[in-house]
Amino acid sequence: MTNRCSFCTKPAEEVDTLVAGAGVFICNECVDLCATVIAAKRTSGPTPRVPLWEQIDDLALLDHLPRIEAVRDQVDDDLHGWVAEARRRELSWDRIGAALGMKRQSAWERFAE
Ligand SMILES: [Zn+2]
Repeated sequence: MTNRCSFCTKPAEEVDTLVAGAGVFICNECVDLCATVIAAKRTSGPTPRVPLWEQIDDLALLDHLPRIEAVRDQVDDDLHGWVAEARRRELSWDRIGAALGMKRQSAWERFAE
């Protein structure tokens, strides 16, 4: 599985650096963009918060949907990997479920392979 930036969805091979977070990744290009946005905000002051979906046309909105789904799938794959490691360490389904705020049975049904 290729890890992708959770912001721009570029695969690791297409960027210089991909930094991992909790189930998500950010590439060096998106970090640069964030730094630019933050710097601009410092000089212009606070701006009204308008959700992205209210700022884009229908085509851009539809284009965004599969990108969100790809990020969701990546987060889900990552979570499965972490739970598999917990099981490899012989942590109980009780403890895994408690960590995820679910019952033992729910954790087992979702993650047992
Ligand atoms: Zn990116």
